Amino acid sequence: MSTLRLPLMPKTVAMRLYLACALIGIAALTIMVASVHYTNNARLAVQDFQMEALRGVQNAADLSMLLERHRRIIESAPVVMDREQIDRDRRLSELIITSIGSLMEEAPKESRAIIREELPTFVVRARRVLYLAANYAQQGAVDEAMSYSLSASRIERAITAYRNASVEAAERDVALVSSSGERLTSWVLGATLAIGMVLLPAVWLLAGTVRRLRTIARTMLNLARNDIGPAPRLTNDDDEVGDMARAVGVFRAHAMQLMEQRSALEELNLRFDIALGNMSHGLSMFDGNGRLVVSNGRYREIYGLSPELTLPGTPLVDILAYYCAHGAVSEDAVAACPNAAVAEIKNRIGTSGFTETRRLHEGRIIEVTYRPIDGGGWVDVHEDITEKKMVEERISRLAREDTLTGVANRHAFHEALNIKLSQDRAGAGFAVHWIDLDRFKEVNDDHGHPVGDALLSAVARRITGTVRGTDFVARLGGDEFAVIQSAVGSCEDAEPVARRLIEVLSVPFDILGTTVSIGASIGIAICRADCPRDPELLLHNADIALYEAKAAGRGKHVVFRPEIEAVLRDRRSLENDLRHALARQQFELHYQPIVDLVSGEVKCCEALLRWKHPERGNVSPAVFIPLAEELGLITDIGGWVLDTAIREATNWPSNVGVAVNLSASQFAAGNLPVLAERSLTRWGLPPSRLELEVTETLLLEDQPATHGALLSLRSMGVGIALDDFGTGYASLSYLRSFPFDKIKIDQTFVRELPERPECLAIVTAICEMARMLGIRTVAEGVETTEHVEWVRRAGCSELQGFLFSRPVPAAELPRVLEGLAEKVRLAA
Ligand code: C2E
Ligand code: CA
Ligand code: CA
Repeated sequence: MSTLRLPLMPKTVAMRLYLACALIGIAALTIMVASVHYTNNARLAVQDFQMEALRGVQNAADLSMLLERHRRIIESAPVVMDREQIDRDRRLSELIITSIGSLMEEAPKESRAIIREELPTFVVRARRVLYLAANYAQQGAVDEAMSYSLSASRIERAITAYRNASVEAAERDVALVSSSGERLTSWVLGATLAIGMVLLPAVWLLAGTVRRLRTIARTMLNLARNDIGPAPRLTNDDDEVGDMARAVGVFRAHAMQLMEQRSALEELNLRFDIALGNMSHGLSMFDGNGRLVVSNGRYREIYGLSPELTLPGTPLVDILAYYCAHGAVSEDAVAACPNAAVAEIKNRIGTSGFTETRRLHEGRIIEVTYRPIDGGGWVDVHEDITEKKMVEERISRLAREDTLTGVANRHAFHEALNIKLSQDRAGAGFAVHWIDLDRFKEVNDDHGHPVGDALLSAVARRITGTVRGTDFVARLGGDEFAVIQSAVGSCEDAEPVARRLIEVLSVPFDILGTTVSIGASIGIAICRADCPRDPELLLHNADIALYEAKAAGRGKHVVFRPEIEAVLRDRRSLENDLRHALARQQFELHYQPIVDLVSGEVKCCEALLRWKHPERGNVSPAVFIPLAEELGLITDIGGWVLDTAIREATNWPSNVGVAVNLSASQFAAGNLPVLAERSLTRWGLPPSRLELEVTETLLLEDQPATHGALLSLRSMGVGIALDDFGTGYASLSYLRSFPFDKIKIDQTFVRELPERPECLAIVTAICEMARMLGIRTVAEGVETTEHVEWVRRAGCSELQGFLFSRPVPAAELPRVLEGLAEKVRLAA
């Protein structure tokens, strides 16, 4: 609502109100001045009336009365005969004359002048009347009394005039009083009218302003009640109310903004509450005075707090006291409850906070992380890590346990060894047995992994059952186990244990319905008081001893001695050299002829591998062939031998064949027939001139693949010989298992033939059986003519030995072959 604007109306409400007040003030002043003025007038008039007019009338009346009395005395004097009376009259006359004289003084000027002028005559005539009367001159007295009356009449007229003038003055004064009252009335009326005229617009103005103020007040009240409502009106007014309306507009805008912010904040709070409530961790926040600011349900749950204890403002001391008292934390933590705990938190929190673990009485473990916040408070997060800890403990246990066998694993073994080394300083001594299972790989390959796994578990059980409870058993991986044997002063303490272990492990196992036999080799390293506290060195020594044990032929145990290491080092270097021998072309084939006992003809030459080592000279195949087999080099080397032998044989007479030795692992590759055929084709050697020598051990493995390969080679026309017959199991059943072309009787037999009659019986039986099966027999290691005699007696068909020729390089072979027939004839 806008204000009605008059042309001269001041702009602001205040100015308007001031103006209204000023006008009312002027009107009131007017009333006041008029009242004072007219009241004064009336007062003066009344005073005048009292002082002048009323006194004048009184005076005139007194004068008139005195004159009248005097006239009666004087005019009656001529008839009074009594002297005394006349004397009394004379005294009275004089008294009256004096009174008239004094009264006359107050008369107005003109009346006073007339009286004063007449009064001496009047006095004289009065006195003469009295005198004449006293002297009985009545006539004269009457005459004189008449003159006196004239004078008295004159005075009387003057007094009358005086009285009239006084009355007139009184009337005038009364008129004045009444007119003053009338004027006052009209002034008061006028001023009141003026006030009324000023008040009306002032009231109208006030009413308008109040109405507008009320509008604004209502808007503000609504705002205060968060009721935004419509935008305030009156913002276009350019007075104070307009200013207020505009200010309220700004407040309203702010309030709207605030409400938006508040609703955003409420939403945020709601989300925050939801987030807090759904947290898997407990959370609480404390201010700098250690009072709770906020917490979530999980926090309550973890410590079993009552709702009252999680009200904002609750001191931490109370909360701690509660859950300390209710046994929410374990006893060792209770010691710090609760005051010390608060102080400790404040002490430790620093700038980056800290984490501590609490153990609750029912066994749960809570990890509490404290983080400082601005203002000296902190936030703490409580995570129930019980499960995590259990998993960790399980993992740590699993990490230390060999899952297959249940004994300690390699990691735990190293730990135990380190502990033993650091704890055994007193020098009770201990031994490390490094156990390697013999033939485990074969069992695993032959019977499958389930049997292999079960066998390892059984081995672990046997080892554990064999050693003492104070000893430590571990599986180091694969088929390797270790025992840390306590209280070992010397070899005498360790070796019986190793022997017992080998013994129990050599007893056949009944695994998943299969009987399997393995063995064990053990390397022992003993640590006494003077032993260096180096676990690696100790294990290295045990490893060397084990290596030595294996090299010594399995099922053995070796206690580490420093000398062994030199031997081993040498073997290692040999191994290393062997790996490169083929590439460095250090191999060469020597050939040893095999002769027919009857005809003396050379039927065949056996290819024997030679390693010409630049420093070691010729290394015996008995040394390096097992090594090459062990290192997996034999396949490549054997392939080279086969190819070279075939090639070189093409230079020989066409009736001389070549025999090549094969290792078991050469069959494992599965391509042996292909290789042989390829070389035969390549060099153009008829398959009938090639003979392959295999040992019993190869047949022992009884692999269908090996059997198939042999058959396919034989079907190609290649001859197959059973080498070293009699050294292994020497079972005649092999002879029926495969159609061999030749049996080579081992040189140990040949050598012992003269001394041992049973040898002759065996060899004779073999030769007889072979002859019946159509298999030729070769006696190896024939060194003397005596040997020739014995083998002939036994019934051997062919001979091989130094007696006829040592194995010679290919270049020398023609020369050897030349004189050989003669040699045989002589020997036979
Ligand atoms: P082997 O197959 O039994 O070979 C015969 C061994 O007896 C040869 O030893 C040979 O020199 C030796 N010898 C021959 N006649 C006599 C004799 O009258 N008296 C004595 N004391 N020894 C005699 P060598 O050459 O040292 O070979 C040893 C073994 O190495 C061979 O025994 C064979 O098993 C293996 N070998 C040699 N060359 C190869 C090869 O190329 N491949 C494979 N896999 N093994 C081979
Ligand atoms: Ca041979
Ligand atoms: Ca042999």
